[in-house]
Amino acid sequence: MPSVRTRTESLVAIATGAASPDNALMNAPFRPNSPELTDAFRRRISYLRLSVTDRCDLRCVYCMAEDMTFLPRQQVLTLEELARIARVFVSLGVEKIRLTGGEPLVRKNLSWLANEISGLPGLRELALTTNGMRLATMAADLKQAGVQRLNISIDSLRAERFREITRVGDLSAVLAGLKAAQEAGFQRTKINSVILRGRNDDEVLELVDFARQQHCDISFIEEMPLGEISEHDRAAVFVSSDELRERIEEKFQLLPSTESTGGPSRYYRFADSDSRVGFISPHSHNFCASCNRVRVTVEGRLLLCLGNEDSLDLRHLMREEGADDEALRAAIIAAMQLKPERHHFDLQERPQIVRFMNMTGG
Ligand code: SAM
Ligand code: SF4
Repeated sequence: MPSVRTRTESLVAIATGAASPDNALMNAPFRPNSPELTDAFRRRISYLRLSVTDRCDLRCVYCMAEDMTFLPRQQVLTLEELARIARVFVSLGVEKIRLTGGEPLVRKNLSWLANEISGLPGLRELALTTNGMRLATMAADLKQAGVQRLNISIDSLRAERFREITRVGDLSAVLAGLKAAQEAGFQRTKINSVILRGRNDDEVLELVDFARQQHCDISFIEEMPLGEISEHDRAAVFVSSDELRERIEEKFQLLPSTESTGGPSRYYRFADSDSRVGFISPHSHNFCASCNRVRVTVEGRLLLCLGNEDSLDLRHLMREEGADDEALRAAIIAAMQLKPERHHFDLQERPQIVRFMNMTGG
């Protein structure tokens, strides 16, 4: 298989007209004048997850190693570059952008970026995923800047356990953040919980109860093998979404729902509550067939798939090649042909994806 660099170079060459799309990869329809992004499997790409930092104030055991080296400042996209990328994607038909990281709230002047993006004509939703640690002081500003929806990660409602899973987190700060978000007017906030056997799988019903009390949705996420961690064996702590659903159904009646928030969650409703429970099941229920997403890392790598390393180096195009918006658009359209049909995660093998989730942009 050609290296990432070779593919990237060929994409740049195609985008700039220096080469024609003549290898097998490029045989899929190439539509430089299309206002929409479509991949080789006819999936329309309408959702961008934009990572604004690789840094974080927590060290969740499934996401990061204890000792992390973060990117030097010059490798990180400026806020202006991030805003430009968002603008170019929206001009290509992207309707939803999620700001993520790392922890997005540790990025200085995040509200400026949110404000720039939320005003883009054609964008239907600006969302943000956060660990909530700094939300108490930032929720009102983010709302004011046009962020419409929040996902807050809470893996445990027990302070000591919360600290163990996040290594340094303070549950009370996160709960204060959720309260501030509600007071600032955020609605349908979603709680994300990664469930690990023997660690927090006994809390699933409590987490569901909590989400219902708070009028939040909740999604349970199967752990993904992104980056090599030492704290636990990912295969040994794996709990499937089906097992969780069965446990929840012992207490609550779940009604299957066809609703989607445009992400990978499969949702269920409760008969007696406005909350929904979702399952993000990269292992047990592959969601690739309906994938409408791509990611841009804070280094400016356009990643076509969570479980695959093919990428396009947007930072290089912007900084070294001096690409104008038209050239960026052409390169992005061409890069869609790199999107694989599906991801392949295997918990028994060493992770094939060496980047951690904080680098990927969750
Ligand atoms: N720092 C923010 C947070 O924690 O919400 C945003 C970034 S974080 C990478 C986004 C989501 O990815 C979180 O809900 C987190 O629990 C989840 N996540 C991180 N590492 C994961 C892994 N290896 N498998 C599955 N989910 C993971
Ligand atoms: Fe930080 Fe989010 Fe990763 Fe936890 S999951 S270490 S909060 S980036």
